[in-house]
Amino acid sequence: MTDHLSTHLIHHPYKPPEGFEAVAPGVHKASTVIFPSVHALRTAEWKDKSGYTYGLHGTPTTFILEERIAALEGGRFCVLAPSGLSALALVDMAFLRSGDELLIPDNAYGPGKAFAQGELAAWGITHRFYDPMNPADLAARITPATRLVWFEAPGSITLEFPDLPALVAVVKAANAANGAHARPIVTALDNTWGAGIAFKAFELGVDVSMQALTKYPSGGADVLMGSVVTRDEALHRAVLLCHMRLGLGVSGNDTELVLRGLQTIELRYRQQDATARELSAWLQGQPGIARVFNPALPGSPGHEVWRRDARASACLFSAAIDPAVPQARIDAFCDALRLFKLGWSWAGPVSLCAPYDLPSIRTLGWPHAGGLVRFAAGLEHVDDLRADLAQALPLLQA
Ligand SMILES: *Cc1c(COP(=O)(O)O)cnc(C)c1O
Repeated sequence: MTDHLSTHLIHHPYKPPEGFEAVAPGVHKASTVIFPSVHALRTAEWKDKSGYTYGLHGTPTTFILEERIAALEGGRFCVLAPSGLSALALVDMAFLRSGDELLIPDNAYGPGKAFAQGELAAWGITHRFYDPMNPADLAARITPATRLVWFEAPGSITLEFPDLPALVAVVKAANAANGAHARPIVTALDNTWGAGIAFKAFELGVDVSMQALTKYPSGGADVLMGSVVTRDEALHRAVLLCHMRLGLGVSGNDTELVLRGLQTIELRYRQQDATARELSAWLQGQPGIARVFNPALPGSPGHEVWRRDARASACLFSAAIDPAVPQARIDAFCDALRLFKLGWSWAGPVSLCAPYDLPSIRTLGWPHAGGLVRFAAGLEHVDDLRADLAQALPLLQA
């Protein structure tokens, strides 16, 4: 070979032996993928995962995570996106065209609503909000232009658990009435809360299941990623090609973190479920607390449907505060918490809380006067978390 050091180091002849086996899969990183021949360069296929062509189209590391997320959700195909929000926007862009209409639950994840308001509207795609706790309301809002219906179970922040099979049935009936000539309405679930653990989205009838892998699959509060899982090959193709044209990619290092977190997802989910249930039951009835929301808590909206359709509940619970308590006292309560940190996201090791102003984020109204605080249980001991809430609760007293 050449005497020039830089060329020699880049084209060094040593290759490690094949067949290295370890618990953790290898972390592959690439923009360029090297082909053995021009023929291979021309014919390599990535769409069915039979080959590699370019970093954006997948590496062994991203293909492994896609297969595991698809298995977790009981789906067949998975596409990874750089955040949960980008996965959500990808679903919108894959299935909506100018002139189409999109239906979003009124309690949906806020930034997903903002994407419809800020971007889709400018592209001639209209959106409307519906009451996810009332399938008749969804039925009344479907028009001949409707092409995508989002679900979220439970709703963001207020955690009402909807009757997904009933909502799916409404869309199926509309598709049957539209006839075979029309593009069918696609149903998509933001399955971040269920994470493939609490219930199986496809068994409840949805077409597309999107997740923020940022939450449970990662579990570390240190990585952003999203996924779109499908069972139907034509739907998967639509997502995959839109994903390719948008140039969405995820890094090998981030993928490694999610693969690592995924191994403990079920243990973490069950542990945080137990903690959230215990804290929810305790918080209900404390002075200053008007009502506690958690699908696993009897009396919480949609609890009976949750019992029918789900096997577990996530780390989240919210408290509607007594309307007599001014917002400044709610803020002081949140500031006084020591273990519950102030911040967005959830399903990480650290417990979190954040105050919300529901009237400003709900289009169809919100029945409770007064403020609301959402809590996310982390992995701390439940006794310490209860003591933390107890020491801050007196701040809610007038
Ligand atoms: C966090 C979250 C998202 C977005 O995930 P990011 O990775 O933060 O973009 C979407 N939907 C729900 C329900 C979420 O909680």
